Amino acid sequence: VDISEVGEFGLIDRLRAILGEAPEGEVWSGDDSAVLRAPAGTILLTSDMLIEGVHFDLELTGPADLGYKSMAVNMSDVAAMSGTPRRAVVSLGLRSGIQVEWVEDLCRGMKECCDEFDAAVVGGDLSRSDCLVISVAMLGNPAGRRVTLRRGARPGDAVCVTGTLGKSAAGYRLLRAGIKEGDDLKRAHLRPTPRVREAEILRRHLPNSMIDISDGFAADLGHLCDSSEVGVIVDAAKMPLVDLADLGLDKTALDLALAGGEDYELCFTIPQERFDKAVSEVEKATGTTVTRVGEIVEQARGRILLIEGGEQPLEVPGWDHLRV
Ligand SMILES: [Mg+2]
Repeated sequence: VDISEVGEFGLIDRLRAILGEAPEGEVWSGDDSAVLRAPAGTILLTSDMLIEGVHFDLELTGPADLGYKSMAVNMSDVAAMSGTPRRAVVSLGLRSGIQVEWVEDLCRGMKECCDEFDAAVVGGDLSRSDCLVISVAMLGNPAGRRVTLRRGARPGDAVCVTGTLGKSAAGYRLLRAGIKEGDDLKRAHLRPTPRVREAEILRRHLPNSMIDISDGFAADLGHLCDSSEVGVIVDAAKMPLVDLADLGLDKTALDLALAGGEDYELCFTIPQERFDKAVSEVEKATGTTVTRVGEIVEQARGRILLIEGGEQPLEVPGWDHLRV
């Protein structure tokens, strides 16, 4: 069904039916603003925009995955502050050729991700546009008054990451090349799991600093070091890498891990004395592995990658995830 047949308000009614009803005490889509319950004190607020041709390609992704991912990337940013994602508004720019059913599937994907993490889309906006635009703004609750910032890393902290690095970049390349294998990697690219549960366990153990890996491990750890005014030593041999055996990709697993981006794993630093307990509890509660890959050092020592018995600067290999 073409959108012009149902009109903007007809489409909104259909999407509202998918996105669900407000609980007692809240008012969602249908008035001039949503009315939400919020805890006293501080809140977290983030936004992320996905643009057709820049962040996604409809040849490679379907609407349900895209909807899921648009929520997941915002949740990942809230989790990276040790927060819990709660409510989102979504603005869609819709181009000609997009059908009502496509937009409904997009919203079903959003709803699926929200249901998994007890969040909700509570409103938004629709507009005609030259290309597809999916803009999400998300509110999150911090844990009490404590948030985990990028700027808290201290020399001596263990540097840790959740999950496996480079999966999304590997999956993207497999999709682009039309290679049949690697469903797990493709899924990591199309439908990343935000590390919300991991962050909720981890925050009890007071990590000193944290960032989610959206630009690539080397870049994002670099952001964390910039903010904290520290250096870092990372051991390449300890990094949790993808097994690329027989997949025929022209990048190494280490390159994909350092530079790939869009992993939406958490990278955090924590004092050594809290490391063991934090990691074992996150792993036990969530099944997600946590790997210690290095140590924070004084800023003057720089950013170092230990590799094959030598060292080299930890820097982003030539890569731009917009034109992989
Ligand atoms: Mg982030």
